[in-house]
Amino acid sequence: MRANSSLRLNEFAEPVLGLIFLKFAGVKFSKTQKEIAEERKVKTPSRFATGQAGGASVARERPVSSADYHAQGTLFVPEKARFSYLIELPEGTDMGKAVNDAMKEIATTTKLETYYKCTHCGDEIFWNTHRKLTHCKCKKIWVDGCEDYVRVGGKEEDYSIIKR
Ligand SMILES: [Zn+2]
Repeated sequence: MRANSSLRLNEFAEPVLGLIFLKFAGVKFSKTQKEIAEERKVKTPSRFATGQAGGASVARERPVSSADYHAQGTLFVPEKARFSYLIELPEGTDMGKAVNDAMKEIATTTKLETYYKCTHCGDEIFWNTHRKLTHCKCKKIWVDGCEDYVRVGGKEEDYSIIKR
């Protein structure tokens, strides 16, 4: 009986904690989203300010990416992991699953941008090697990663972790 009720508590607690986490992450994300938009407004020169004929001199701005959020120390929250998205889900949706998927979604976007850079040869290895053990040029480090795990070989001082 007791084991049963604690299992229930876990089943209940996990999505609730996840939801609280997503709520906070989402608030920070929206705040950063506004800040980036403001910053871009200031930076983007108006047509009058450039004073040049034609549009050629107006540099096309690179789209906002998760790297812009990481630069602000903000976790990038993909659309499906946003609190606003989750509360709009239709009635009868498995919320536990939706929250789990949202957490996975965040983990994937974060992991997707990780590179391991060898401090000796400067080689950068992408985290996902599709389970193939991949060495850097000088063989001081190696990476073996896929969606379920990432293993890195070499001493801590042999590589740095790059997110982009
Ligand atoms: Zn190397």
